[in-house]
Amino acid sequence: MMSMNEKNPNLEGDWRHFSACIGEDPELFFPIGNTGPAVLQAEEAKRICMSCDARVKCLEWAMQSEENFGIWGGLTEGERQAIKRRSKRSRVAPE
Ligand code: SF4
Repeated sequence: MMSMNEKNPNLEGDWRHFSACIGEDPELFFPIGNTGPAVLQAEEAKRICMSCDARVKCLEWAMQSEENFGIWGGLTEGERQAIKRRSKRSRVAPE
């Protein structure tokens, strides 16, 4: 999720320049809670992410920068944390 609502000429060539969430309501990407309207917000944000050309880069950025809030790359913070936990477990698991 971008923190800006308009295309920024300084981002030419940057993945954020191709974000499908440009111009979307930022609140969609930061639902509060995980019940009721927040679930609908998250679903709508994820729907937007699925059409985004920058989705993979966005998710990589969120994982690397340990973004703890919001929907990035089509995943909630809980889903990103689950990926990290699985990745950590697979690194420490004996072969
Ligand atoms: S993947 Fe989603 S949050 Fe990330 S830039 Fe695209 S639309 Fe925005």
